[in-house]
Amino acid sequence: MRLVLLGAPGAGKGTQGVVLADHFGVPHISSGDLLRSHVVLQSDLGRRLGAYLARGELVPDDLVLAVIGDAIIAAMKTGGYILDGFPRTLSQAEQAYALAEPAGVAADAVVYLAVPDDEARQRLAGRDANRTDDADPAVIERRLRLFHAETKPLLDFYGERGILVTIDAVQSAHAVSAAIFAALSAR
Ligand code: ADP
Repeated sequence: MRLVLLGAPGAGKGTQGVVLADHFGVPHISSGDLLRSHVVLQSDLGRRLGAYLARGELVPDDLVLAVIGDAIIAAMKTGGYILDGFPRTLSQAEQAYALAEPAGVAADAVVYLAVPDDEARQRLAGRDANRTDDADPAVIERRLRLFHAETKPLLDFYGERGILVTIDAVQSAHAVSAAIFAALSAR
Protein backbone atom coordinates (compact mmCIF):
# COMPACT_ATOMS: atom_id res chain seq x y z
CA MET A 1 0.00 0.00 0.00
CA ARG A 2 1.29 3.45 -0.94
CA LEU A 3 -0.42 6.34 0.79
CA VAL A 4 0.13 10.05 1.25
CA LEU A 5 -1.43 11.78 4.27
CA LEU A 6 -2.50 15.40 3.94
CA GLY A 7 -3.93 17.64 6.60
CA ALA A 8 -3.46 20.83 8.57
CA PRO A 9 -1.08 20.83 11.53
CA GLY A 10 -2.94 18.99 14.29
CA ALA A 11 -5.19 17.05 11.89
CA GLY A 12 -3.79 13.73 13.13
CA LYS A 13 -1.41 12.72 10.34
CA GLY A 14 1.17 11.35 12.77
CA THR A 15 -1.35 9.31 14.76
CA GLN A 16 -3.00 7.84 11.67
CA GLY A 17 0.36 7.34 9.98
CA VAL A 18 1.46 4.96 12.72
CA VAL A 19 -1.83 3.04 12.61
CA LEU A 20 -1.80 2.74 8.81
CA ALA A 21 1.86 1.71 8.63
CA ASP A 22 1.27 -0.96 11.25
CA HIS A 23 -1.85 -2.23 9.49
CA PHE A 24 -0.30 -2.42 6.02
CA GLY A 25 3.19 -3.43 7.16
CA VAL A 26 4.91 -0.56 5.34
CA PRO A 27 7.21 2.18 6.63
CA HIS A 28 5.75 5.36 8.10
CA ILE A 29 7.86 8.22 6.81
CA SER A 30 7.20 11.43 8.70
CA SER A 31 9.10 14.38 7.26
CA GLY A 32 8.59 16.33 10.50
CA ASP A 33 9.99 13.48 12.65
CA LEU A 34 12.99 13.06 10.34
CA LEU A 35 13.67 16.80 10.32
CA ARG A 36 13.38 16.98 14.14
CA SER A 37 15.74 14.01 14.50
CA HIS A 38 18.39 16.12 12.73
CA VAL A 39 17.65 19.17 14.85
CA VAL A 40 18.46 17.28 18.07
CA LEU A 41 21.82 16.23 16.60
CA GLN A 42 22.86 19.92 16.69
CA SER A 43 24.82 19.46 13.46
CA ASP A 44 25.18 22.43 11.11
CA LEU A 45 22.34 21.03 9.03
CA GLY A 46 20.28 20.45 12.18
CA ARG A 47 20.73 24.05 13.27
CA ARG A 48 19.64 25.35 9.87
CA LEU A 49 16.58 23.09 9.90
CA GLY A 50 15.76 24.05 13.49
CA ALA A 51 15.49 27.71 12.57
CA TYR A 52 12.77 26.98 9.98
CA LEU A 53 10.89 24.62 12.27
CA ALA A 54 10.94 27.04 15.19
CA ARG A 55 9.46 29.80 13.00
CA GLY A 56 6.86 27.46 11.50
CA GLU A 57 8.20 28.08 8.01
CA LEU A 58 8.59 25.48 5.33
CA VAL A 59 12.06 24.01 5.04
CA PRO A 60 13.46 24.66 1.52
CA ASP A 61 13.06 21.74 -0.86
CA ASP A 62 16.77 20.97 -1.21
CA LEU A 63 17.13 20.58 2.57
CA VAL A 64 13.94 18.53 2.89
CA LEU A 65 15.14 16.18 0.17
CA ALA A 66 18.61 15.94 1.72
CA VAL A 67 16.95 14.67 4.92
CA ILE A 68 14.11 12.49 3.67
CA GLY A 69 15.18 11.59 0.11
CA ASP A 70 16.93 8.34 1.05
CA ALA A 71 14.04 7.12 3.19
CA ILE A 72 11.57 7.82 0.41
CA ILE A 73 13.66 6.12 -2.26
CA ALA A 74 14.20 3.08 -0.01
CA ALA A 75 10.45 2.89 0.69
CA MET A 76 9.59 3.24 -2.98
CA LYS A 77 11.89 0.30 -3.72
CA THR A 78 10.13 -1.89 -1.17
CA GLY A 79 6.88 -0.88 -2.84
CA GLY A 80 4.98 0.49 0.10
CA TYR A 81 4.91 3.61 2.24
CA ILE A 82 2.84 5.95 4.33
CA LEU A 83 4.11 9.45 3.62
CA ASP A 84 3.25 11.95 6.36
CA GLY A 85 4.21 15.59 5.81
CA PHE A 86 5.67 15.16 2.34
CA PRO A 87 4.75 16.30 -0.26
CA ARG A 88 3.64 19.57 1.31
CA THR A 89 3.87 21.94 -1.68
CA LEU A 90 2.84 21.64 -5.31
CA SER A 91 6.47 21.65 -6.38
CA GLN A 92 7.28 18.79 -3.98
CA ALA A 93 4.24 16.87 -5.26
CA GLU A 94 5.26 17.37 -8.86
CA GLN A 95 8.83 16.26 -8.17
CA ALA A 96 7.71 13.21 -6.21
CA TYR A 97 5.23 12.26 -8.91
CA ALA A 98 7.84 12.64 -11.68
CA LEU A 99 10.12 10.24 -9.82
CA ALA A 100 7.53 7.74 -8.64
CA GLU A 101 5.21 7.49 -11.62
CA PRO A 102 7.69 6.05 -14.17
CA ALA A 103 8.88 3.57 -11.54
CA GLY A 104 5.28 2.43 -10.94
CA VAL A 105 5.36 3.46 -7.29
CA ALA A 106 3.15 6.55 -7.27
CA ALA A 107 0.66 6.76 -4.40
CA ASP A 108 -2.40 4.50 -4.56
CA ALA A 109 -4.41 7.01 -2.58
CA VAL A 110 -4.03 10.34 -0.84
CA VAL A 111 -5.89 10.62 2.45
CA TYR A 112 -6.91 14.16 3.41
CA LEU A 113 -7.69 14.50 7.10
CA ALA A 114 -10.07 17.45 7.13
CA VAL A 115 -10.33 19.60 10.26
CA PRO A 116 -11.47 23.23 10.62
CA ASP A 117 -8.75 25.69 11.64
CA ASP A 118 -10.27 26.23 15.08
CA GLU A 119 -10.13 22.52 15.82
CA ALA A 120 -6.49 22.44 14.66
CA ARG A 121 -5.67 25.42 16.90
CA GLN A 122 -7.25 23.75 19.92
CA ARG A 123 -5.44 20.48 19.34
CA LEU A 124 -2.05 22.12 18.86
CA ALA A 125 -2.54 24.21 21.98
CA GLY A 126 -3.32 21.05 23.93
CA ARG A 127 -0.56 18.90 22.48
CA ASP A 128 1.75 17.94 25.33
CA ALA A 129 4.75 17.02 23.20
CA ASN A 130 7.76 19.25 23.76
CA ARG A 131 7.52 20.83 20.35
CA THR A 132 8.42 24.49 20.51
CA ASP A 133 6.48 25.09 17.28
CA ASP A 134 3.28 24.14 19.14
CA ALA A 135 3.89 26.57 22.01
CA ASP A 136 3.72 29.91 20.21
CA PRO A 137 0.35 31.04 18.80
CA ALA A 138 2.06 33.15 16.12
CA VAL A 139 3.97 30.08 14.92
CA ILE A 140 0.77 28.03 14.86
CA GLU A 141 -0.94 30.73 12.78
CA ARG A 142 1.97 30.76 10.31
CA ARG A 143 1.79 26.96 9.92
CA LEU A 144 -1.97 27.14 9.32
CA ARG A 145 -1.50 29.92 6.76
CA LEU A 146 1.16 27.92 4.95
CA PHE A 147 -1.09 24.87 4.98
CA HIS A 148 -3.83 26.84 3.21
CA ALA A 149 -1.50 28.61 0.79
CA GLU A 150 0.98 25.86 -0.05
CA THR A 151 -0.50 22.47 0.80
CA LYS A 152 -4.21 22.82 0.01
CA PRO A 153 -3.52 23.15 -3.74
CA LEU A 154 -2.40 19.52 -3.56
CA LEU A 155 -6.06 18.55 -3.07
CA ASP A 156 -6.77 19.59 -6.66
CA PHE A 157 -3.56 17.99 -7.90
CA TYR A 158 -4.50 14.60 -6.45
CA GLY A 159 -8.24 15.07 -7.03
CA GLU A 160 -7.58 15.42 -10.75
CA ARG A 161 -5.68 12.13 -10.62
CA GLY A 162 -8.68 10.45 -8.99
CA ILE A 163 -6.79 9.28 -5.92
CA LEU A 164 -8.01 11.74 -3.28
CA VAL A 165 -9.94 10.41 -0.28
CA THR A 166 -11.33 13.03 2.12
CA ILE A 167 -11.97 11.99 5.71
CA ASP A 168 -13.77 13.97 8.40
CA ALA A 169 -11.02 14.03 11.01
CA VAL A 170 -13.10 15.69 13.74
CA GLN A 171 -13.77 12.33 15.39
CA SER A 172 -11.88 10.13 17.80
CA ALA A 173 -8.59 8.78 16.46
CA HIS A 174 -10.15 5.32 16.41
CA ALA A 175 -13.18 6.50 14.40
CA VAL A 176 -10.89 8.32 11.95
CA SER A 177 -8.87 5.11 11.41
CA ALA A 178 -12.08 3.17 10.81
CA ALA A 179 -13.27 5.79 8.31
CA ILE A 180 -9.95 5.60 6.44
CA PHE A 181 -10.05 1.79 6.24
CA ALA A 182 -13.67 1.89 5.05
CA ALA A 183 -12.89 4.51 2.40
CA LEU A 184 -9.83 2.63 1.15
CA SER A 185 -11.60 -0.70 0.88
CA ALA A 186 -14.52 0.93 -0.95
CA ARG A 187 -12.16 2.06 -3.70
P1 ADP B 1 2.60 19.66 11.44
O1 ADP B 1 1.89 18.99 10.32
O2 ADP B 1 1.89 19.56 12.75
O3 ADP B 1 3.00 21.08 11.13
P2 ADP B 1 5.12 18.22 10.90
O4 ADP B 1 5.87 17.41 11.89
O5 ADP B 1 4.57 17.53 9.70
O6 ADP B 1 3.96 18.90 11.75
O7 ADP B 1 6.03 19.42 10.38
C1 ADP B 1 6.72 20.26 11.27
C2 ADP B 1 7.57 21.28 10.51
O8 ADP B 1 8.54 20.60 9.71
C3 ADP B 1 6.83 22.17 9.53
O9 ADP B 1 6.27 23.30 10.16
C4 ADP B 1 7.95 22.54 8.55
O10 ADP B 1 8.77 23.55 9.12
C5 ADP B 1 8.77 21.28 8.48
N1 ADP B 1 8.40 20.37 7.37
C6 ADP B 1 7.89 19.12 7.49
N2 ADP B 1 7.69 18.55 6.30
C7 ADP B 1 8.08 19.47 5.37
C8 ADP B 1 8.11 19.50 3.95
N3 ADP B 1 7.69 18.45 3.22
N4 ADP B 1 8.57 20.62 3.33
C9 ADP B 1 8.99 21.66 4.04
N5 ADP B 1 9.00 21.72 5.38
C10 ADP B 1 8.55 20.64 6.06
